[in-house]
Amino acid sequence: MQQQSNIPGFTEITQTAPIANNTHGGRAKCLQRLIRLDMPVPKTLALSFDAVHAIAAGDPANTDAMINSFGDALVSVRPSSEDPDWGGPGAILNIGMNTQRHKELTQELGDAAANALYLRFIQAFAVHVARLDPDMFELPDNPTSEALQDMLHAYQDETDAEFPQDPAKQLSDVLRSMARAWEGTTARLLRQAKGAPADAGLGLIVQQMALGVGKGECGSGVIQFADDITGLPRIKGRYLSQSQGRDALTQEKGALYLTHDDRGPSLEDLCPDCFAKLKQYGEISRQRLREEMQIEFTISNNCLHILDAVRIPRRARAAVRIAVALAKDGIISREEALMRIEPRALSELLHHQIDPEGPRDVFQQGIAASPGAASGRIVFSANAAQASQARGEDCILVRRETTPEDVRGMNAAVGVLTAKGGMTSHAAVIARGLGLPCVVGAMGMEVDRRDKIITAEDGRVFKEGDVITIDGTAGQALAGTARMLEPALDGAFRQLMEWADQACDMGIRANADTPADARIARKFNAQGIGLCRTEHMFFEQERLTVMREMIFADTSEDRAEALGQLLPMQREDFVELFGIMQGKPVCIRLLDPPLHEFLPAHREGQRELAEALDLPVSDVTRRVDALREYNPMLGMRGVRLGITVPEIYDMQARAIFEATVIASKNGAPVVPEIMIPLVSATHEVDLVKTRVDAVAAAVRVEQGHDFDYRLGVMVETPRAALRAGDIAQNAAFLSFGTNDLTQMTYGMSRDDAGRFMSNYVQQGVFPEDPFHMLDTEGVGELLTIGAERGRAARKDVVLSICGEHGGNPESIAFCRSAGFDYVSCSPYRVPVARLAAAQLAVEIPDR
Ligand code: PEP
Ligand code: MG
Repeated sequence: MQQQSNIPGFTEITQTAPIANNTHGGRAKCLQRLIRLDMPVPKTLALSFDAVHAIAAGDPANTDAMINSFGDALVSVRPSSEDPDWGGPGAILNIGMNTQRHKELTQELGDAAANALYLRFIQAFAVHVARLDPDMFELPDNPTSEALQDMLHAYQDETDAEFPQDPAKQLSDVLRSMARAWEGTTARLLRQAKGAPADAGLGLIVQQMALGVGKGECGSGVIQFADDITGLPRIKGRYLSQSQGRDALTQEKGALYLTHDDRGPSLEDLCPDCFAKLKQYGEISRQRLREEMQIEFTISNNCLHILDAVRIPRRARAAVRIAVALAKDGIISREEALMRIEPRALSELLHHQIDPEGPRDVFQQGIAASPGAASGRIVFSANAAQASQARGEDCILVRRETTPEDVRGMNAAVGVLTAKGGMTSHAAVIARGLGLPCVVGAMGMEVDRRDKIITAEDGRVFKEGDVITIDGTAGQALAGTARMLEPALDGAFRQLMEWADQACDMGIRANADTPADARIARKFNAQGIGLCRTEHMFFEQERLTVMREMIFADTSEDRAEALGQLLPMQREDFVELFGIMQGKPVCIRLLDPPLHEFLPAHREGQRELAEALDLPVSDVTRRVDALREYNPMLGMRGVRLGITVPEIYDMQARAIFEATVIASKNGAPVVPEIMIPLVSATHEVDLVKTRVDAVAAAVRVEQGHDFDYRLGVMVETPRAALRAGDIAQNAAFLSFGTNDLTQMTYGMSRDDAGRFMSNYVQQGVFPEDPFHMLDTEGVGELLTIGAERGRAARKDVVLSICGEHGGNPESIAFCRSAGFDYVSCSPYRVPVARLAAAQLAVEIPDR
């Protein structure tokens, strides 16, 4: 066993020293593991979180004892936070350099090496400890004696004091400055953004320097054995002779490849023994640390030292591949592989992403409404988007905000950018459904539809036809094109999803409105459709005109005629959906939006409609105006429409049942689920149920075919949640529409909240945008009340959530603990939801 130094305030890291992640940080613990694996780690002391906190508060550190324990060696200091991702102050090397040591090292190693060591220390000390202007302390290309004298003078000029010569004082200043930097507000906010608790501690590591400069082969490098972007096995890194720290990665000139490479010299050629040992250490750390590590090493006079090892920082696609490979090699369990992937990060695999290492010219920031990235030419209307698609040109649809009329344009575009809106605004919801990159709420951006220009917040002007890029993952719009990473739905992803499904104990369905959505839902293995918003089926051009005819019908005969034309189209939609879903449940929501949404908002569209319906334009304009409501989201929509104009729901119910008969004859028997939107009173359900039952009975007789169906209610008004007990009497299922429920609980428009939301969140009024992150206190209480009352009245009532929150890991946790049967979310979020639900089942097996 090694001898341990026993000096208060710090601990030498040995095989048996009491070092733990939560007292000394991840780096200290990892170094102890490397020592236990017999790797050549230079002598290292660890300062605990408490010791560093005391130093920040002004307690003197026992640096005399520390420095003495290293003899006359130079030392480095590195941060060691509990989770390496939380960051910390940068490393400082060569502490202990002073005039005396410089003289000795000049004799031992030569001028250049000694100057380089001293220069590096003065520079780091001046900038990070004395906080002097970095421009005055740039490292020279050649470490000459003049350059060294210049830097020492610059230090003296700036501080009116000589550069500190006492190694113990140098160390004490470095420790105090690092300890205080960690406690500063900026650093705290930065790490809190990465998930660190407010009181997260910092440990510090004081390590004997293996110099990396001097006689024989000397240098430093970094090596890893898996690619940080793809996760594929690959030796990656660089080595640089006569260098320190991570210089090999930052200085291209002279840096060597690690493995033999036709492009130039390599470490494998230069120092085969060291390279062979590194490979061996890589394999040992993969097996024993159960992770792919990045190892920092130094060679001093042909002798290898391991200074540090950190988990390879990685992109999501690499994280998946590495976790799956470790589990397949039996190094970690499948459950652990599942737990190692952040569910939200999966969406990075499903879409194109902007290459993080490429250039990025951001001209506008907004809300990241739908992930992925795409480049295309700017268009300002749905017509222009369709024309662009017909020419085979990718386009980005830019609007102040989108309306249902824009859906065909969104279908034709590769990305969407809107000046207004929030996470559940029209553009955001549709784009997520389509898997289309989308940025909304780009505040400060002017969209001039008439002159076809946008003026960005930073003043830049873009016109129709200019190429821009939308980054829906980061919520940014960029000028020009950008380098992209392809989606990565490979074997590792599919394997992880298979393990997730084996672990998962709640249902995951998709919100899917069209056959294309349903195919994506199937591709991602959704267990059914939890919400089919039927209104989206009416926005195709030929249907829209018939729909408008129906809305304008003066008599019930005219209305019946128009609905008669819509019926076969709807029936076809459902036959196709049922066919794709192959007997899996499909929950169809009856028409929800106010009729006004189907009418053209602009003059041009109204003129076209007048032509199609053979009416004077003034007539069309008048009728459009007559249908306008002050508060359409609280107006005649949802079940209110169904009760006021019951023929619409009759037609939809008939289309569903006729499709059920056809699909059941062709394939697996279908039991359709029909859902009534925006219910607030139980009597609404009774009225609709009576009519739907009558339509079902009629179709059974006409078709000579029996079938079952299930009628349920969307709980999206606070009253429906409170009265869920009554409502459940006549509902086989209750599906919570948390978009509207959030809107109505807060009394806050989901389309207008983008205007003030970031301000509200910044000021801490709301911890998060409640349209994005379920408000578990207020809206959540309504969900719990609704679920409890619904279940108490009807034990077998099926409970689910189908608002946009359904794909969020936090909402899934909430719904699982409230006993919900399934969640339903946009098709592209299904994998995220499957993994999140699986993690919950692994973590808390008993529901
Ligand atoms: C909801 O309100 O949560 C919902 C799913 O319906 P929509 O978004 O279509 O209003
Ligand atoms: Mg709704």
